[in-house]
Amino acid sequence: MMDDSARVARRVFIETYGCQMNSADSELVAGVLRRAGYSPAARPEEADVVLLNTCAIREHAEERVLRRLSELARLKQSRPELRLGLLGCMAQHNRVSLTEKAPWLDLVAGPDSYRRLPELLSRARFDPAVDVRLDRAETYADMVPEHQGGVRAFVTAMRGCDRFCAFCVVPYVRGRERSVPPQAILDDVRGLAARGVKEIVLLGQTVNAYRFGEVDFGRLLHLVADVDGIERIRFTSPHPSDMSDSAIEAMATERKVQPWLHLPVQSGSDRMLAAMGRGYTVGEYLGLIERLRTAIPGLALSTDIIVGFHGEGDTDFRATLDLMRTVGYDSAFTFKYSLREHTRAFRLGDTVSEGEKGGRLAEVIAQQERISLERNRRLAGERAAVLVEGPARRGGGMLAGKTPQFKTAVFPAVDSIHPGDLVTVCVESVTAHTLQCAVASADREFSDSVCT
Ligand code: SAM
Ligand code: SF4
Repeated sequence: MMDDSARVARRVFIETYGCQMNSADSELVAGVLRRAGYSPAARPEEADVVLLNTCAIREHAEERVLRRLSELARLKQSRPELRLGLLGCMAQHNRVSLTEKAPWLDLVAGPDSYRRLPELLSRARFDPAVDVRLDRAETYADMVPEHQGGVRAFVTAMRGCDRFCAFCVVPYVRGRERSVPPQAILDDVRGLAARGVKEIVLLGQTVNAYRFGEVDFGRLLHLVADVDGIERIRFTSPHPSDMSDSAIEAMATERKVQPWLHLPVQSGSDRMLAAMGRGYTVGEYLGLIERLRTAIPGLALSTDIIVGFHGEGDTDFRATLDLMRTVGYDSAFTFKYSLREHTRAFRLGDTVSEGEKGGRLAEVIAQQERISLERNRRLAGERAAVLVEGPARRGGGMLAGKTPQFKTAVFPAVDSIHPGDLVTVCVESVTAHTLQCAVASADREFSDSVCT
């Protein structure tokens, strides 16, 4: 049944900031609102409700959203009936200051409040509605997300985080760790397979800590792999300390689970890792990499790195550069430490100046570019199985897709090749970020052999 809000305001525009968990949450919100009678608007100007789904991980992310909110305030001035809402981590993090900084907001809702959105929007017609209750049990297992089209879909396997790393706001804004029942995940995956989705990315802040009854993360990978029509499975982000034998076994034995792992390390200094409360040493992390590489031939690795955390000296920073070379990551997301209210490290303050952080960041980025290029060069002349996604970003009659190692491959478009096809390509030349390829054959066979 449709509620009042649906009769008054029917078109919703959702703008998403931050990580893939947020993209998945926006799809969930779209599903909740669709059932309440809302349909999607293509632009804010055409919408009755505009929702920003936000990120609080770094100050920079919050500043972007505040600037966007000011722009939208002007739109609301010209159309006072427009309802403007802020969702997600920033809503949870800044619940008090937000209503002062952006008094024109009609709605503020945290990540555990999405099933109440229709009712909140109904209330927001008269007064600002705020709901930032965290709920230890909410998994939205009974809610069907409105997935966007494409060959790849993101499926939330677990929500929240219990690790409380000293720098990180996630446990405070997304609440405690909880796993989605496997049946709900599998129903979603089956629905996606029926719509032609070929690749599933399982999501969670520490996704490999997944456990629901007897089903651990390794078992979940096997269950998802049993779904007909799904060709590829990935997951992000696993935590190094939760990388169990069962998960490694599933990666090693399940053909559909791709040889790619995003394994955030954050720092290459034991002193920093301890201060961050990451729960592993450099030696333990490297031991895990060795186990993974032994079990999964051709494994590609990416990571997250923070520079300039409280107390990071030059020696600590050099240790991070060393670790990056030792592992030889295929790619890395690199960040300047951003002090976040509520976190354990907040009261310690900053010890590394903005200028020094900037210098260190530039150095890790430059080094990673060199490593990525070197690793990609090894692929020249090899074959790779590519799941075709669509036209390449730069156009030019090229198609793009991903290799099993999650590298972007581009190749000339051919009429017989469509999104969702698995094609074998031959790598002709490389940059740090892209493989330029020629189509070797358009069959469904995997072949890792050298091009002939
Ligand atoms: N759960 C994942 C893990 O444990 O590695 C990471 C999730 S977090 C959304 C993504 C990345 O943001 C982190 O790996 C970290 O590198 C970065 N990050 C988190 N808090 C940060 C902060 N206060 N300043 C800078 N980067 C931060
Ligand atoms: Fe944040 Fe640490 Fe949890 Fe990752 S594991 S979300 S970095 S607290």
